[in-house]
Amino acid sequence: MHSEYTPLSCQKTLLNGNPRGNPAKAPRCGAKTRAGNPCKAPAVKGKQRCRMHGGTKGSGAPKENQNALKHGHYSLKSQLERNYIRELINLGSKAFDSGH
Ligand SMILES: [Zn+2]
Repeated sequence: MHSEYTPLSCQKTLLNGNPRGNPAKAPRCGAKTRAGNPCKAPAVKGKQRCRMHGGTKGSGAPKENQNALKHGHYSLKSQLERNYIRELINLGSKAFDSGH
């Protein structure tokens, strides 16, 4: 009987079925509280904010929605476009440097 005991630290999941991990290492919410310091509550999975600060499932706009679009300058697509053009320019100037 005694040999069947497995210490809690050897189990793969917690008793509630959640994966084991160090809660102290979980990403923290950085929202500024009314006291002026960061919130520090654990952030919701896949988000940067805790459940009190807009991290709740279903809150916030879905990716790439156009509801608040004004000029699209900060949209992912145009940011990627600018990165691509910048790289082309860098490549071009490198080629120019090595040619002379
Ligand atoms: Zn928070």
